[in-house]
Amino acid sequence: MTASLEQTRLLRTPLPGPRSQELMRRKTAAVSQGVAATMPVFAVRAAGGIVEDVDGNRFIDLGSGIAVTTVGSSAGRVVDAVTDQVAAFTHTCFMVTPYEGYVAVAEQLARLTPGDHEKRTALFNSGSEAVENAVKIARSSTGKDAVVVFDHAYHGRTNLTMAMTAKNMPYKHGFGPFAGEVYRAPMSYPFRDAAEVDGKLAAARAIGQIETQVGADNLAAIVIEPVQGEGGFIVPAPGFLAALAEWCRANDVLFVADEVQSGFGRTGTWFAVEHDDVVPDIVVSAKGIAGGLPLAAVTGRAEVMDAVHPGGLGGTYGGNPLACAAALAVIEILETEGLLARAREIEARLLGRLGDLRQRDSRIGDVRGRGAMIAAEFVDPATGNPDGALAKAVAAHAHSQGVIALTCGTWGNVIRFLPPLSISDELLDEALDIVAAGLEQVS
Ligand SMILES: *Cc1c(COP(=O)(O)O)cnc(C)c1O
Repeated sequence: MTASLEQTRLLRTPLPGPRSQELMRRKTAAVSQGVAATMPVFAVRAAGGIVEDVDGNRFIDLGSGIAVTTVGSSAGRVVDAVTDQVAAFTHTCFMVTPYEGYVAVAEQLARLTPGDHEKRTALFNSGSEAVENAVKIARSSTGKDAVVVFDHAYHGRTNLTMAMTAKNMPYKHGFGPFAGEVYRAPMSYPFRDAAEVDGKLAAARAIGQIETQVGADNLAAIVIEPVQGEGGFIVPAPGFLAALAEWCRANDVLFVADEVQSGFGRTGTWFAVEHDDVVPDIVVSAKGIAGGLPLAAVTGRAEVMDAVHPGGLGGTYGGNPLACAAALAVIEILETEGLLARAREIEARLLGRLGDLRQRDSRIGDVRGRGAMIAAEFVDPATGNPDGALAKAVAAHAHSQGVIALTCGTWGNVIRFLPPLSISDELLDEALDIVAAGLEQVS
């Protein structure tokens, strides 16, 4: 993967530098404070594993713009494909005069998503919008209303997806009332779930609650992240997803995998459900799908997707030609550059380093994840209680040293490692050294 930007970390100014400070003053004066930023620095260029700011500082990227730039932030093929498309035409609206790129993305998704049944796809602009449409489709095709989601879930910030998201602050607080017919079931969370570590038992617990509190006859779909993202990179115990999917099949309930964060190569397979041999009825993709251009997809069984009346799905920009051109390039890069295997290499490296750190420091309660979606959960060693302040302090140290590190988790006590697959081992190791030094310093 070519990266025109020098692949080294560099701090040229104290952070934030003078130009970023000036831009931050303008941001404060012009942009709603509701739109916050993790780092107080403004980007000008990004490539490989580096983001450069307006003051010439270069940061190691452990965030990929929240799991989006899996192939890098300026991958050559994506740039070329989008450049060609922008010169040809920027938009016609697929619902007015369709174009090939949209159809080609749908064909690729039929090939890449789990299962060899006949499939159809509809394209949208954001993960939230796609999740909403998955629910619309599930309701339309089953004739039922209720939707089940899980503890720690994150499905977006629109009205329906706020109802589906678990965490109040900052996603829901003050923004209600929320959409109805959304019910929450217990998740399998092996690290905090001592009584139900077995995936089948955890599924039975969830199913029991669904049967008594909702009823399969009222339930259109369960929507679940195969590896939870914002909720803390929670990987359910083996067998949990498969048992839920089996129950869905037996009860005319659709199994919807929200793969917005975990999909598109991020976990070392095209989709994270593949690790559990689950074939969902509907798969939702977004984030990593188009190398940073806004695109999201709902891909499902042909009979489910085609149950919707003509004209029932769509949107002005959904499947915009620039985003489709980018997605086709991303798929080509992932396939021809062996990036799924690269994700598994990154997994081994991160799990190895973080596992060693956990051996030496009992404040790291758990290290988990798949592929280039790895997390460390911080706890108070005496009680096992979540230590959000520690995660925040370690992330702040990383930021101050030129590493873009993100936290997550219901209690904010998880640091997540989401590097682009285009990052070098050297940058990854350097970033891990800095995180480790941060942990030492905070003690
Ligand atoms: C980010 C995310 C969403 C929402 O996607 P947006 O593009 O931000 O609307 C939905 N589900 C999951 C699992 C996500 O990580």
